[in-house]
Amino acid sequence: MSAQTEGRCVISVKPIRIFGDPVLRTPAEPVRDFDAELRKLVSDLTDTMLEAPGLGLAAPQIGVGLRVFTYFVDDELGHLINPSLDLTADTETDDEGCLSFPGLAFPTERAFGAVAKGFNMYGEPVTVEGTGQLARCVQHETDHLDGVLFIDRLDPQQRKLANRAIREAEWWGEPVPEIRASPHATGGQAR
Ligand SMILES: [Zn+2]
Repeated sequence: MSAQTEGRCVISVKPIRIFGDPVLRTPAEPVRDFDAELRKLVSDLTDTMLEAPGLGLAAPQIGVGLRVFTYFVDDELGHLINPSLDLTADTETDDEGCLSFPGLAFPTERAFGAVAKGFNMYGEPVTVEGTGQLARCVQHETDHLDGVLFIDRLDPQQRKLANRAIREAEWWGEPVPEIRASPHATGGQAR
């Protein structure tokens, strides 16, 4: 899907931040203004996720510290703003990866089912409910908004393997781009 802006078709793919970038460890701020800038952010996230391609993408992964993510799971494309999660007690362990850890995937335990409540880009309340891959995705992306990464969820043995794979990855130790606090030109200071 490409973004439609006032009749023009604009595709905006942003660089994805890689593990080691401090923005990925910084908790994101709740969205307060459901404005055109927010809709542009959702559009950028969607374009970047689909281009990657990925199942989900959180705003900190493109350097924006706001509680927004997009997902594309089982042909269902969506986004969620200021999410809160209710999780089932039963869990499932499956391979999980992250666009901020290119080429890596490890068995990760997650709740099997999730109900995610939040808002769409127009400020309307929405609920995303799913099991399996969709539940895994909303847990993974909501973690990003808290500065939590999937490697934090691994059992000790898998974590050891992941740490080794990261050190051996060709992207490890690349210079880190600058952090932006918000998509607004005012750097998050605007109300
Ligand atoms: Zn991720």
